[in-house]
This record gives sequence, C-alpha cells and structure tokens, in this order.
Amino acid sequence: MNRAVVSSWVDAVLGTDRNQRVRVTQSLVASSLYLGLSAIVWLGVWMGVIEQLPAAVLASAVLGASVVFYAVIRSGRNLRFTADPALTQVQGLYCVLACSAAYAVAGPIRGALLMLLLTGQFFGAFSLSPSQARRTSLVAVVAVGLTMGWCAYTDPVRFPPQVELLTFLLVALVLPTIGWLAGKLSAMRNKLRLQKAQLESALAQNRLLATQDELTGLSNRRHMTALMMAERARQHRSRSPISMVLMDIDHFKRINDGCGHQAGDQVLQIFADVITHGLRAGDALARWGGEEFLLMLPNTSADDALVCVERMRGQLAGRSFDHIEPKLAVTFSAGIGVCDLEDRMDTIVERADRAMYRAKTAGRNRTVVA
Ligand code: GH3
Ligand code: MG
Ligand code: MG
Repeated sequence: MNRAVVSSWVDAVLGTDRNQRVRVTQSLVASSLYLGLSAIVWLGVWMGVIEQLPAAVLASAVLGASVVFYAVIRSGRNLRFTADPALTQVQGLYCVLACSAAYAVAGPIRGALLMLLLTGQFFGAFSLSPSQARRTSLVAVVAVGLTMGWCAYTDPVRFPPQVELLTFLLVALVLPTIGWLAGKLSAMRNKLRLQKAQLESALAQNRLLATQDELTGLSNRRHMTALMMAERARQHRSRSPISMVLMDIDHFKRINDGCGHQAGDQVLQIFADVITHGLRAGDALARWGGEEFLLMLPNTSADDALVCVERMRGQLAGRSFDHIEPKLAVTFSAGIGVCDLEDRMDTIVERADRAMYRAKTAGRNRTVVA
C-alpha cells in the first residue's frame, strides 16, 4: 500500500497534533488490553468456566468505556481538563473498577487477572505526579480488597475466605510497591523535563551572548563580522557599494568621570537607541568596542552614507540627556569608508577608523569620508 495512504489513515486514527497523538496512542493501547480481556473472558465462557451473563456485562462495559475514552481524546475534548489532559487519572480509576469487576466474574482465572491491574499502574508513570501514582495504587488495593471481601462474604464456596485473604495480602504488598516505583519514574520524568527546559533556556542565552552586546542589545563584534562577510558575498553578486561608518562618542571619558560609570552606560544605551531608529532594513549596527559603534550600510555610496550619518547626528542632538545630567550634550565623530569589490573588509574598517580619527583631530562632532 502507498505510504501516503497509510500515513493519512494513521492521521485519521491518531490525529496530527504531536501531544494528542501520544494520548490517543495510550488510550488505544489500554483499549487493546480491554479487548484482549473481553476475548479471554469470552473464551472462558465458551470453555464453560465463566458465567455468560456477567461476562457479557463486563465485556460491554469495558469495550464501551474504551470507545468513550478514545472519542473524548481524539475529538480534543480532553483538553478542557488542563490538569490531566491525558485523562490518566480517570482511565486509571476506570481500570481499577474494571479489574475489580472482572475479578468477581472471572472464576478460576481471577488471580491471574490481577496482572492487568499492574499494567494499569504503569500507565500512571507517564502522566501522573508521584503522589497521584501512589494514591492510585492505594485506591486499587482498597477496591480489590472490597471486591474480594464482598465475594468471600456472599459466595464463600467459589471464593474461599482464606484464599481471598492470602491473595489480598499479596495485592496489598505488590501494588503499593508498583505505585511507588511508578511515582519514582514520574519524578524522574519531571526532573528530566525541567533539566531539558533549563538547558534550552541556557542555550538560547548562550546564543544571545555569542551574538549580542549585553549593555546595548546591539550585535557584538563577532556577529557584525559575520554580517559583514555575508554582505560581502552579496556584494560580489550585486556589485553595489557598501559603506562602513565607524562612530566614536566624543569625550566619553568626561561623561564617565563627571556623571559616573552608570550614567556612561545609560548614554551608550541611548546612543544605540537613537542610531538604531535611523536604520533602514538591511543596515546593521554593532557595538565595536567601548564607546565605538560600527554601522554597515549596504547599497550605499559615501555621499548617501554622509547624509544618513548627519541625519543621525541631528537626531542625537535633539535627544535630551537631562535626566542623566542637566545640559549634557552627547556628540560623536564618524569616519566613512566605502568598500570596493577588491578591498578586504578589515581594510575598510581600518580606513573608516583613520577617517574617524581625522574627524577627532579636526575638532570632533563631525564626519570625514575616507
Ligand atoms: P575621544 O573624544 O577622543 O573619543 O575621547 P573619549 O574620552 O571618548 O575616549 P577615551 O578612549 O579616552 O575614553 C573612552 C572611555 O570609555 C574609557 C572607558 O572607560 C569608557 N568605556 C568603555 N566601555 C565602557 C562601558 O561599557 N561603559 C562605560 N560607562 N564606559 C565605558
Ligand atoms: Mg574610542
Ligand atoms: Mg570617544
């Protein structure tokens, strides 16, 4: 059969949402257990060791409930129960009831049937909390104990009280142990999930640290270098100029000395904010060093870059720094280097750097084109 057809059938049965598929699969596994249980009970009826009427009631109840559980989960109605969307608690409780009822009708195979209860407990390890898993096992002990007591009381010939008592003691010994183990598995699963979330967040943080300057949120030098290489490769195809602008805040040391290092940090953040707002799509700004910023303007000639930088200068001049220090004016000097196809990228930055120093020696607060 064609793969796509099989896949569409599987989608129709399990759904397409990844989490829901896990839940539907779990409910189908439980259903197949109930189907097996019904078949075995019917075989017992056919062999004459199990009574027909109670077997029919039991088989209809367990199969009916399986269909209901599947329908609820497959239709997504289970998602309303946000605390336990897999309905593990309800299904676990139902398993306990079904096994208790089956115990009462299963005749001589009732002891072996208790294995089904253990299987039910294991489902809990996948979706219950440790305390829920332990509680489910205790509920199972109580339900089976009551069934055994009732059967021994009402029909002591078929359910000899001594045999029932010994079987119950075994159940009371084994089920809580299984519940405890399921709880341990569940705790381990929770811990792994938490560790995975922490690892993912640390990885995201590392990725950010590797590309971003912490103070300004701009690209750092390493990331800018990668952006420059990529732009360079594009330039070889488009053959359009790239302007590199090195900007250095004037007398920044004075700001630090006069207003404090924290105020200096704030000035750097505001500077980054003002320049970022003047960027077009495709432009890139990075913190190149302490109070030095590198701006990359693709498809931009030196003349256009000069207009752009002077516009930014005007925007910075209009920005108030009064909340840091009354009358504080922040200016910058800039050097522009245009990148030709045969130039190395670092040569261009050096050229922009030399132009920027010429702007400094010429009196600062100006732009020089290399
Ligand atoms: P110029 O006009 O010639 O550029 O003078 P300047 O004072 O700006 O340049 P200088 O290189 O003498 O001083 C730069 C100062 O920037 C020195 C350094 O302590 C400071 N700086 C570097 N990184 C940071 C930072 O992240 N935060 C703060 N607050 N200061 C920084
Ligand atoms: Mg500097
Ligand atoms: Mg400076």
